[in-house]
Order: sequence, then C-alpha cells, then structure tokens
Amino acid sequence: MVKCKKCGKENPNIAEYCQECGTPLEKLEDKKDKKFGEFTGNTIIDTIIWILIILVGCDLFVNYIIGPILSFN
Ligand SMILES: [Zn+2]
Repeated sequence: MVKCKKCGKENPNIAEYCQECGTPLEKLEDKKDKKFGEFTGNTIIDTIIWILIILVGCDLFVNYIIGPILSFN
C-alpha cells in the first residue's frame, strides 16, 4: 500500500495518484533511489573529510611526536 502524503489515504501500490484527493503518489522504489543517491553523496564527502583529518593527524603526529624525538638525537 502507498500512503498519500496529503490526506493519508492508503492506495494500491499500482496507483500513481491518490484515489481520495488526486495527489501524485511517491512510489517506494523512487524514495529508495533518492535516499541511496543522497547516501552515496554523503559517503564521498565523509571519505574526503576523513582523508583530510587523517592527513592533518599524520602531519601533527610527525611534527609533535617524531620531530622532537629526532631532534633529541
Ligand atoms: Zn490523498
């Protein structure tokens, strides 16, 4: 069943428009595709942010941990 966003009536899955108020119904498959697309975009941005964090972290690690150790020798 597909629930109408506007009036809340449950329509058959094959219905493209609400039988009660005529509002175009969002198919569940379309919702999944949209969410998947958004998820993929966020994942790529998250990956880039994590790479930057790791690079900055490595830089700080080298400068503040390895650097002093090397300079003592
Ligand atoms: Zn409706």
